[in-house]
Amino acid sequence: MKQPSIRRPLQEIIAHVSETCKDCGLCRQECDFLEKYGTPKEIADCYDPKKKEGQVMPFECSLCRLCDDVCPFGINPSQMLLEIRRESVERDAGSFPEHTVLLDYERRGMSKRFTW
Ligand code: SF4
Ligand code: SF4
Repeated sequence: MKQPSIRRPLQEIIAHVSETCKDCGLCRQECDFLEKYGTPKEIADCYDPKKKEGQVMPFECSLCRLCDDVCPFGINPSQMLLEIRRESVERDAGSFPEHTVLLDYERRGMSKRFTW
């Protein structure tokens, strides 16, 4: 089956990061995630929603926004990574067996019995 194209907010932020990130590496020096996956521009340029690695990768980012704070050009890589996560969830690649216990805990906590 043909995969749908990526959602517009993700298209826009990927294009923005790709065009404006100078690849200076400042944010990368501060972040193990970027150290592993490359600068925001490199991530934007090689992102492929159909590849499994691309779908799982954004969940390793803690969305701490340190990269946004250190970027001298006002780029927000964390926003791009959040949108990539959303894309992964839409493509059904955002469920991990490791989260089962936590999700179950959350479901019980929100149940009628415990919120009465
Ligand atoms: S938001 Fe993600 S990419 Fe940015 S500094 Fe934090 S962990 Fe790294
Ligand atoms: S600090 Fe800004 S310009 Fe430099 S690599 Fe990171 S996002 Fe790109």
